[in-house]
Amino acid sequence: MSNAPKEKTKKKMPERKCVGCNERRSKSELVRILRTPEGEILIDRTGKKSGRGAYLCRSSTCFAKAHRARRLQTALSCEIPDSVIDAIGKELMQDHEG
Ligand SMILES: [Zn+2]
Repeated sequence: MSNAPKEKTKKKMPERKCVGCNERRSKSELVRILRTPEGEILIDRTGKKSGRGAYLCRSSTCFAKAHRARRLQTALSCEIPDSVIDAIGKELMQDHEG
């Protein structure tokens, strides 16, 4: 029935690994969590800010996994208070609904 070729776009997308599920995905499917040079943790929606970044799927499951295993802290090599992580999680979920 559906014999449509799967890859219609051969464009090369940069891939990053999600710190939640550890799967590689194209950057457009991921959100970038950024640690700025000032030590601030935020969601980088442009993907262009400088700093150290960690990538997450837009999924509450991946966020929860990363949160539980403290992978954001590991990926960004810094301590992140739970309150900050919670705020990021909420913001991500809002994105998801919006
Ligand atoms: Zn993931």
